[in-house]
Amino acid sequence: MRILVLIVIGLLLYIIIGKLFRKKSVSKSQDELGKMVRCLHCDLHILEQEAIRSEGNYFCSQQHLEAEQKK
Ligand SMILES: [Zn+2]
Repeated sequence: MRILVLIVIGLLLYIIIGKLFRKKSVSKSQDELGKMVRCLHCDLHILEQEAIRSEGNYFCSQQHLEAEQKK
C-alpha cells in the first residue's frame, strides 16, 4: 500500500511540475514577442508595453517625456 501512495504522490508532483514548466515557457515566449523600444531621452531599452508613448517617440518614464518636451 505504501508503494501505491508514493506512486500517486510522484505522479501528482510530476503533473504539477509539468504544469509549472509549461506556464514558464509560455511567459518566456510572450517576453520574446514583446517589442523593445528605446527611450528618446536616455537611450534605455524598455518593453513597448511599459514605455510611455508620445508623438511616435518612446520614453522610459514620465520625467524623461517631460524633459524631452521642454527642449
Ligand atoms: Zn529615459
